[in-house]
Amino acid sequence: MQIAVLGGGLTGLTAAYHLSGKEHDVTLLEGNESLGGLASGYKEPGWGWYLERTYHHIFSNDRDILSLAEEVGFGGFAFKEPVTAALYEVNPTNNYRTFSVDTPQDFLSFPLLSYPEKIRAGMVVAFLKLSPFLSLYEKRTAEKFLRTSMGDRVWEVLWEELFRKKFGKHAENILASFIWARIKKRTKSLGYPEGGFQEFINFVAEKNKARGVVIKTKTTIERVDKGGGGFLVEGAFFDVVISTLPTPIFLSVFGGELPAPYIKQLSEIKYLNAVNLILETDQPFFEKEYWVNMCDKKAPMMVLVQHTNFIDKKHYNNHHVLYCANYVEKEHPLWSMNGQGVLQYHLPYIQKITKNTQPIIKARVFRAPFAQPLFDREFPSRMPHFETPIKNLFIANLDMTYPYDRGTNYAVKLGKDVAGLV
Ligand SMILES: Cc1cc2nc3c(=O)[nH]c(=O)nc-3n(C[C@H](O)[C@H](O)[C@H](O)COP(=O)(O)OP(=O)(O)OC[C@H]3O[C@@H](n4cnc5c(N)ncnc54)[C@H](O)[C@@H]3O)c2cc1C
Repeated sequence: MQIAVLGGGLTGLTAAYHLSGKEHDVTLLEGNESLGGLASGYKEPGWGWYLERTYHHIFSNDRDILSLAEEVGFGGFAFKEPVTAALYEVNPTNNYRTFSVDTPQDFLSFPLLSYPEKIRAGMVVAFLKLSPFLSLYEKRTAEKFLRTSMGDRVWEVLWEELFRKKFGKHAENILASFIWARIKKRTKSLGYPEGGFQEFINFVAEKNKARGVVIKTKTTIERVDKGGGGFLVEGAFFDVVISTLPTPIFLSVFGGELPAPYIKQLSEIKYLNAVNLILETDQPFFEKEYWVNMCDKKAPMMVLVQHTNFIDKKHYNNHHVLYCANYVEKEHPLWSMNGQGVLQYHLPYIQKITKNTQPIIKARVFRAPFAQPLFDREFPSRMPHFETPIKNLFIANLDMTYPYDRGTNYAVKLGKDVAGLV
């Protein structure tokens, strides 16, 4: 069969890889110049490794991506235990501190909660780690679940700000499933591919080409029509189409062909957009922390990620790299601000909390639309499934990782699973 895979992120690349193994004629069409979508990376002159446009790592239990790496012969995912922490303003005179709350020992020494509060919270975390997915998690919001199980104060100190920073005005509507999945999946050990995620993506792309997949980049699909018992994509005929495009783009590409109730169902899914500022400096802003959640209400960002406390700076011309990340609605000023504006929006705060005013060697801003689907109360009834109302048209995209938050591991799983249906 002639199969078109729309989108060259990890879902599309994995789907194409498995389909080509079944002796189909597979063409993968990607709008951007490079492959990899949300996990793609870039190289500055003098860098040996790629850097992701948005911070990336995998967990040690991300079996699907590790199996694909093994299957294609990519040997290089290395695992480490970098320091992850949360930042608080510990007194009203701009005195900021980071606390690691990763291990039971760290958590027991966390000074902002009492021992009974910490023990209760620790027991709930242990329960969630062991618990299978329960329908209860879809009947409660995360806030209600955490307030009831861990107590109001633990919610306010540990969770409230994280939810507000990640989901904005939607924070109180996010399902408890989200917190179950986050706790269930999280491992202290984090993995990173040698050369960066783009190196792995390029490796998978080369394996695809070796298996006969035709990869066309710089090919933005605007419209697909049904015709001749199949589909017309960019003037060519295909028996089967697999769309890995974000759902709103899928709807605009196939809108003319889909039934109205299905369009309504999918168009009601809500998303946030990612804005990432990347700073290159001579010195790190954080001495040891890789990941710092912003639990200070006044912080203008959700998280700071000192990538070079995880991956050696020698790969980036001996520059340190800091990500500064937010999820925003399209109406938020950050979404349309120019690069200088994004820098000025964040930098004074970073300098204040780290007491470091070193020069910035380079600042870059990356934006990704539809980067975070909102797992709110309505989401389970709206999310797409592989099969669509149109025969031989399939969807596989990051809305479908629920209850797990999107991730490269699930992209690989979705790609494999959707290929198995054809
Ligand atoms: C801020 C952020 C941090 C993340 N951190 C991690 C992490 O630490 N670990 C992890 O595992 N995952 C992480 N992820 C998630 C991970 O990047 C994604 O789950 C995964 O890359 C999704 O792959 P995909 O192929 O499904 O989608 P995408 O990567 O979005 O691929 C879709 C592709 O379709 C293309 N496209 C769109 N429209 C068109 C069109 N009209 N025509 C042709 N092509 C089109 C896009 O250019 C893109 O390449 C993060 C994501 C974000 C946003």
